[in-house]
Amino acid sequence: MTELAGTARSLLSELVAFDTTSRNSNLALIDFVEERLRNLGAQTFRVENEDRSKANLHAVIGPDAPGGVLLSGHTDVVPVDGQDWSSDPWAVTERDGKLYGRGTCDMKGFLACALAAAPEFAAAGLSRPVHFAFTYDEEIGCLGAPDLIDEIVARTNGVNAVIVGEPTEMKVVTAHKGLLSFEVSLRGAEAHSSLVDNGACAVTAAVPLMSLLVEIGEEMRAAAPSDSPFEPAFGTLTIGEMHGGTALNILAKEACFASLLRPAPWDDIDAIEQRLRDKAAEVEADMKARAPGARITIKRLSRVPPLAPEADGEAERLARALTGDNARRAVSFGAEAGQFQQAGYSTVLCGPGSIEQAHQPDEFIAISQLHEGAAFMERLIKRLATDSAS
Ligand SMILES: [Zn+2]
Repeated sequence: MTELAGTARSLLSELVAFDTTSRNSNLALIDFVEERLRNLGAQTFRVENEDRSKANLHAVIGPDAPGGVLLSGHTDVVPVDGQDWSSDPWAVTERDGKLYGRGTCDMKGFLACALAAAPEFAAAGLSRPVHFAFTYDEEIGCLGAPDLIDEIVARTNGVNAVIVGEPTEMKVVTAHKGLLSFEVSLRGAEAHSSLVDNGACAVTAAVPLMSLLVEIGEEMRAAAPSDSPFEPAFGTLTIGEMHGGTALNILAKEACFASLLRPAPWDDIDAIEQRLRDKAAEVEADMKARAPGARITIKRLSRVPPLAPEADGEAERLARALTGDNARRAVSFGAEAGQFQQAGYSTVLCGPGSIEQAHQPDEFIAISQLHEGAAFMERLIKRLATDSAS
């Protein structure tokens, strides 16, 4: 084990011990990370959530110069509730060349590699800076990153490449699907079901809205180009929840449903949302004609833009040079990379561990993957110390 990989391994144990399930505060972990980076001379700032129970952290090591590389990862993890673990999820346990624990692959393994490299970045006399961006609430819809990205845009000189270290087994992923989710609530007015004009049935009114979504899903399916890198090839739309009504012979007062879209880069998510809102306005007007108190509310739960492959992207070039991976790859999960790209940064996903182990009971990262992550950092240090291009 190289020294850097050994440090990454012990840091991973410390990071996993913080229970940063998204519903909890991540401040103890952020304190730990920030102190460590400040002791190395890093400049840092935080961007907190509204009630200040969570924070994003930005840190930079190296010259106050434009360019350089930004290493990004989320600090939160998914819950272990109801999962059957063979060992304590909050303590890293080694078995058969694997390190088990919640977040080992998604994505504290990458954070550990980046932090383990920080002393070497600080000692290397970098010609371009290395930035670290650690976020909260990624697992519940990439909610933390946008405010941090706004601050990075405002406060820094720009970076040439963003590496988001989601588990890709250190392969270079240049595209991911986005996320767009809604909760639609309808309030009608109850009446005897024989008197259909004396009230407004919320369940019946929900049907045209759900039909529109199903239709949009079919359009998304048809829109996929034949060379789509995704599996499945098209953006998807599902309606995973619906509730409403109390009895067969009463016009329903309440109905609600929730829909999750995983758009591909060619799907126009703003146009999709507008179509849903326009249809809801039309249906609501129709309900109000019979029940003035009727109302349809659309609450957007998440909006994460997809990551699109870049033409001649700097991040892709850098990650390919550092990993030797030249294959074309895309993933179907949502991540923060699309948010960085939308802010104008060249971005790819590349990190240790496999997404197959993410969110599972007995989540693990193979020790060999941690080594690959550490080796990636070592090559990046050399490049930032000597190369003025990125
Ligand atoms: Zn993740």
